[in-house]
Amino acid sequence: MKIARSRKLFAEAKEVIPGGVDSPVRAFRAVGGQPLFIERGEGPYIYDADGNRYVDYVLSWGPLALGHAHPAVVKAIQEQAGRGTSYGAPTELETELARMVIDLVPSVEMVRLVNSGTEATMSALRLARAYTKRDKIVKFHGCYHGHADMLLVQAGSGVATLGLPDSPGVPRGATQDTLVAPYNDLEAVRRLFEEYPGEIAAIIVEPVAGNMGVVPPADGFLEGLRRLTEEHGSLLIFDEVMTGFRVALGGAQSLYGVMPDLTTLGKVIGGGLPVGAYGGRKEIMEMVAPAGPVYQAGTLSGNPLAMAAGIATLKELTKPGVFDGMVAHVKALGEGIATAAESARVPIYQTRVGTMFSTFFREGPIRNWEDVSRCDTDAFGRFFHGMLEGGIYIAPSQFEAGFISAAHGDAEVQATISAAESAFEGI
Ligand SMILES: *Cc1c(COP(=O)(O)O)cnc(C)c1O
Repeated sequence: MKIARSRKLFAEAKEVIPGGVDSPVRAFRAVGGQPLFIERGEGPYIYDADGNRYVDYVLSWGPLALGHAHPAVVKAIQEQAGRGTSYGAPTELETELARMVIDLVPSVEMVRLVNSGTEATMSALRLARAYTKRDKIVKFHGCYHGHADMLLVQAGSGVATLGLPDSPGVPRGATQDTLVAPYNDLEAVRRLFEEYPGEIAAIIVEPVAGNMGVVPPADGFLEGLRRLTEEHGSLLIFDEVMTGFRVALGGAQSLYGVMPDLTTLGKVIGGGLPVGAYGGRKEIMEMVAPAGPVYQAGTLSGNPLAMAAGIATLKELTKPGVFDGMVAHVKALGEGIATAAESARVPIYQTRVGTMFSTFFREGPIRNWEDVSRCDTDAFGRFFHGMLEGGIYIAPSQFEAGFISAAHGDAEVQATISAAESAFEGI
């Protein structure tokens, strides 16, 4: 595989951008080697600067549910761009996307649109603290909720990949009200409520963890969180920035039938443009300014280009059969990879929920960060490079989820399984 031009571009980027990338996990540090510079995407494929083509299972880390440059999304963006890119005044597009979100995500009655998942979780927690008049929050080890100071504690993939337990620059005061429990451990959460009676504003959780690889909730875990938060007057926040429109069209809350008080969204609802959202019960959301006293704002929030891309994406994604087709491809892919691993005698453990999936390089079961952290990351690294050689682009870290798009078909799935057969043999 020739990557001379990517090498050159990376060297140039490193001169002017820290580490040569604008988000750390893009740098391939966890798997060695150097990142590919991408020139274009089309359907399930990306093309790098040297002209190599790959089947893409990163999909911009989740957002591209329809694949790259879907005609309906491109058209929506082009048409909107011709009418202007931002006005700093309300548009009908925002109401349209808000309505689509409310129709699809069962617990959301009202929604505020922002620019990223980080902003969504930050704002939802501010709102939860204002609503409950409490300061403490509970998060889970291995869950990532964006890079706000208060949430940069035991935060999964990106941080773990770099081996930074926490980040310098985060003042102690910023995390002193952040309590951490192991994922899928209700007993630990119960103890936190006992230890801090009347102090916990909210629990924030990825209802299917996706930032330590895909780790589904154990039976009763989400129900237990719902019960405990109700008993103690705290709010339950589902961070569905990744799982929204990915584990099911209505998110994890529709899949598991557990309704949070607040939900954060991002990724898919922007169709590949920068977006985030937080929503929930009307009574809580009406505390957000200017309806209420909780301040939160954004120059480009509800940006017309992002709204147009998001609306077009959700329209296509909700057409009959589209989402189910993606789920069927994930299943076929998982089964093929499992068979390939077995023939090569490589121990793996697979998880898949909706259109998200993981292959962990160890035997199961996997329920939390401690289990995930014992994976054979060296074997994963060799597998990653084997897949790349075979024309398959998976996330460059054991601790990231895989995603499929509606553009991936049987041919891509078969090509991926063939590449996996060789990659496992090469481990
Ligand atoms: C990606 C992600 C975020 C952060 O979103 P950004 O748009 O990268 O700021 C927050 N929570 C979860 C669960 C995510 O997967």
